[in-house]
Amino acid sequence: MGKVMLITGASSGMGRETAILLARRGHTVYAGARRADRMGDLAELGVVPVQMDVTRAEDNERAVRLIVDAEGRIDVLINNAGFGLYGPVEDISLEDARYQFEVNLFGLAHLTRLVLPHMRAQGAGRIVNTSSMGGRVFTPFGAWYHASKHALEGWSDCLRIETAPFNIQVVLIQPGLIRTEFGQVLGGKLQKYYEGSAYTAGLDRFFAMMSSPSAASRGTDSDVLARVFVEAATAGRPRRRYVKGATARPLMFIRKWFGDGVYEAVLRRTFG
Ligand code: NAP
Repeated sequence: MGKVMLITGASSGMGRETAILLARRGHTVYAGARRADRMGDLAELGVVPVQMDVTRAEDNERAVRLIVDAEGRIDVLINNAGFGLYGPVEDISLEDARYQFEVNLFGLAHLTRLVLPHMRAQGAGRIVNTSSMGGRVFTPFGAWYHASKHALEGWSDCLRIETAPFNIQVVLIQPGLIRTEFGQVLGGKLQKYYEGSAYTAGLDRFFAMMSSPSAASRGTDSDVLARVFVEAATAGRPRRRYVKGATARPLMFIRKWFGDGVYEAVLRRTFG
């Protein structure tokens, strides 16, 4: 039977591919993003585009009300909106850092709090949170991004225990390197901290690594991840975590089993 779902970050990348696949599988899909104009073609598949910024409480409230009024329920929330704030900690203002958390953690948390009462009343529900391999490992200049995804991992684990008695499952997706607009957004924001930074040598190496053809070609296609999202959203007994995409398994494996010293040596070899 088709489920009623809200997926955020659906105007591009993994969210967009997932919304398309869910609609094709017969689910009722509400797709959120700030650039709702980019989701016109999704509407042709029966997806309902919802203009929303997850950092705006009123947008989140309007989106949940819209769904519950129209469908009488909400079965799955896929919290996928997010971006990567990269740059030297010394140069990134706390205001920018807080915004990273507003999008990657607090916006998501607000939406989750809004849907939980409905899921409890229904006696079932599922929250799927897009974390990252970055919720388990780290990269140069990614302090605030990794902090937000590490926080999301811990937050989601605690939530899973709390909501289990109400038959509400909490699932984490840990994508690796995926070909989406993520890199462009990251690169665009990183430029802001370049001028006048004491860290330009490291930033140059970081940019060279990120923009090398080998890095681009290593990325996994987002439709591969879409299949993982659909599994996470619909499986009878979902796993707690789904790891998928280029470099995710090896990097997580190295840090976990060989320790931080060996993992950092790998980073130094990769980023110079
Ligand atoms: P993407 O193509 O840049 O998509 C990001 C989506 O998030 C867009 O639809 C964007 O839509 C939305 N978004 C950003 N800020 C928002 C806000 N304030 N309110 C509402 N929507 C917002 O990148 P992606 O790779 O598919 O990213 C999806 C998720 O995967 C993110 O959480 C990211 O951290 C995670 N991830 C990505 C990778 C990767 O290699 N690509 C790896 C690990 C994890 P609008 O701009 O239209 O609002």
